[in-house]
Amino acid sequence: MSQTPVTLEKIVSLCKRKGFVFPAADIYGGINGIYDFGHLGYLMKENIKNAWKKSIQNELGDIYFLDGSLIGPQAMWIASGHVENFHDPMIDCMNCKKRFRTDDDQIDVNKPCPSCGIKSWTDIRDFNLMFQTQLGALQDDSAKAYLRPETAQTIFVQFKNVLTTNRAKIPFGIAQIGKSFRNEITPKQFLFRMREFEQMELEWFCKDATSMETFEFWVQKRKAFYSSIGLDMSKIRMYQHPTEKLSHYSKCTIDVEYEFPFGFKELEGIAHRGTFDLTQHTKHSGKDLAIFDQETGLSEIPTVVETSVGVDRLFLTLLFDAYTEDEMDGETRVLLKLHPTIAPIKAAVLPLTKKISENAEPLYKTLKKQFTNIDFDDSGSIGKRYRRQDEIGTPICFTFDFQSLEDNMVTVRHRDSGKQERIAISNAAQYLENLLV
Ligand code: ATP
Repeated sequence: MSQTPVTLEKIVSLCKRKGFVFPAADIYGGINGIYDFGHLGYLMKENIKNAWKKSIQNELGDIYFLDGSLIGPQAMWIASGHVENFHDPMIDCMNCKKRFRTDDDQIDVNKPCPSCGIKSWTDIRDFNLMFQTQLGALQDDSAKAYLRPETAQTIFVQFKNVLTTNRAKIPFGIAQIGKSFRNEITPKQFLFRMREFEQMELEWFCKDATSMETFEFWVQKRKAFYSSIGLDMSKIRMYQHPTEKLSHYSKCTIDVEYEFPFGFKELEGIAHRGTFDLTQHTKHSGKDLAIFDQETGLSEIPTVVETSVGVDRLFLTLLFDAYTEDEMDGETRVLLKLHPTIAPIKAAVLPLTKKISENAEPLYKTLKKQFTNIDFDDSGSIGKRYRRQDEIGTPICFTFDFQSLEDNMVTVRHRDSGKQERIAISNAAQYLENLLV
């Protein structure tokens, strides 16, 4: 249990200190809402994506993957409704020039600006969050294109291609992990609200008659995912959107929310989208996206259940959840209690002194060959080296000492408890394998 409150500042500082995350273009002063991921951040993100890919496999039907393009033509974003509707309400303080999103920043126009204390507001305007660009040299309307604000639409526009090339049968899913871009009015809370981020989205195509059961199936499955990657489930709640707040095409939407230090916030959205998207793309492209049902002899547009979570937002959630400060051996230590499948480094091999580094190397090489992300560290006191691994969430360390030369055993030291046990070197790989299952 964390003894002191986890703050965003602590997470940001750890991320930079240990090389998880850096501000983009750091040497030029950074860029608001955009970040680069360093070595450990990259590895942790890969682990998150792999866990997600595994978690969506299911007994209802197959999943096909898509790696769609980031830029889409204007026509596609008109069809999806994003050109007309994908905006947030924005307001400026005319005194201090600060800009706010009225719905998210809880701005009351009858009260003074929370930043400067003066009441001098502009009108509320709608601000479209899509990044617009031009394709080629022509500057006319036909060259207008947009960076995708969600990965889902590339799935819908490729629906027929995926269906036919894979000879897919309803129900089935198309999944995608990839970048999305939103020109957020107020990017904030580090990786929580970014302008360039990654999403993991699943569009599940099914018959309308079974769609509510399917929706419930995915709600339970997504909940199970968060438990499987070690999140504290007492901080997770499922928030059902009230009917009057639903998008006109959605029968039901449930957000998976996590209790951040800044309150319960959306981590993932699960939405019954009906036939809205495929119907829109059928209308606007003139291509029929209905599929023929052998049983009924009718052509129908399938119903969609969507699950959508941000890789970066989940990354931040996992860090908040894992960040712990405690006392060990009379010292305060920082540790990340990450689930072993999420931890960027799976284990470290630590020779007690440099004199026996060479003797410890074969164990390191064996583990590295099998698990790739293994550290070897022989500099500094053993206590310091444990702390270094604790801080980046490495679940176990194998300590090779002088006794190891004689009995071919190593000490396994556990991150969370600090407990130690002796095991045969020949069992080390299996020991780690068991931890990662
Ligand atoms: P919010 O209300 O927090 O802006 P949203 O309802 O607009 O979220 P969706 O469009 O449902 O979000 O996107 C699905 C998921 O993508 C979110 O649950 C979140 O995990 C992630 N996501 C959305 N916008 C951002 C962002 N600006 N930065 C990081 N992750 C994001």
